[in-house]
Amino acid sequence: MRISLLALFFCFIAGITITLSQSTDWLPELTEMWEPVPVYVQPAPFSEPPSDATLLFGDDYLIKWADADKWNYSNGVLTVEPGTGGITTSGSYADLQLYLEWRIPENVDGADQRRGNSGIFLQGLYEVQILDSFNNETYVNGQAGSVYKQYPPLVNASLPPGEWQSYHIIFSAPVFTENGGLARPAYLTVFHNGVLIQNHVEVKGPTIYTGLPQYEPHPYKLPIFIQGSRHEISFRNMWIREL
Ligand code: MG
Repeated sequence: MRISLLALFFCFIAGITITLSQSTDWLPELTEMWEPVPVYVQPAPFSEPPSDATLLFGDDYLIKWADADKWNYSNGVLTVEPGTGGITTSGSYADLQLYLEWRIPENVDGADQRRGNSGIFLQGLYEVQILDSFNNETYVNGQAGSVYKQYPPLVNASLPPGEWQSYHIIFSAPVFTENGGLARPAYLTVFHNGVLIQNHVEVKGPTIYTGLPQYEPHPYKLPIFIQGSRHEISFRNMWIREL
């Protein structure tokens, strides 16, 4: 009796595994985590660029970005023009230290993922989420500072909409073998408003909305992408140090 119950249990688990792995009808909800909710931590101030940093939002920003002329630039602040999509750096990067400040407008509307959603895509593929998470419930691996759909932030260090916030990101690019296998995954460390929220997490693959991420071989260096938004999110003081 005990053996047959055990056998039945394993058949049940195997059935679930096969169903999940074979199904092509992924629902985005299947990869959402809602608990535990990261606790709130009072943030710390901003960071100035070190002497060897490359500034990405100076007056020469149109050289640093391939398509940023569709957004609105004024005095070192670049603001999303809603509906125009995201922007991509002219340069390509692998391992890096990246700092930037971002601001969601005070009059932001919407809820859940539709409230100031943007994101920093390292190599155009691996997203650190931007969202108003000051007082806005969503799945926790989709809130501000999450490695989107992979890791919730360790704590919630968000400031209210209308205030400038900062990300300090350390990124190690993935390395692929000549045969296209994965030799080393990507890693991310992120500080949000001076607070450590991602501690050298192993990135599971490119950011996708539906299903599970899976690495595909790509060049060692690729451009950075900032996701467009339906809100007028502003960016400033973005600088980079290649490692
Ligand atoms: Mg996003």
